[in-house]
Amino acid sequence: MTWVVRGQYPSGDVVEEFATEEAAQEAIERHRANGVPVAVKSPAPPGAIVPTRCSFCGQDRDAVGHLIAGPSQAGVAICDQCIALCNKILQGH
Ligand SMILES: [Zn+2]
Repeated sequence: MTWVVRGQYPSGDVVEEFATEEAAQEAIERHRANGVPVAVKSPAPPGAIVPTRCSFCGQDRDAVGHLIAGPSQAGVAICDQCIALCNKILQGH
């Protein structure tokens, strides 16, 4: 399992992968010391089902902007496009 740390520098993102939480934490602190926003993708908890596609439209993770996962045991997710559609429907009522 790999920790992915993404430092969001104005010139572009710096992405690093770490095998341990400790190493990832060091990188996070290094970025934050520079005042740089950090995004961290941590390993999924044991038993978690990581969805790779939207449960509503079926599009793959790579085909959508964001894929938001539901509870880890449920293995469901919704993409940004389906959320936008849901918002339109809700606003119509
Ligand atoms: Zn979708």
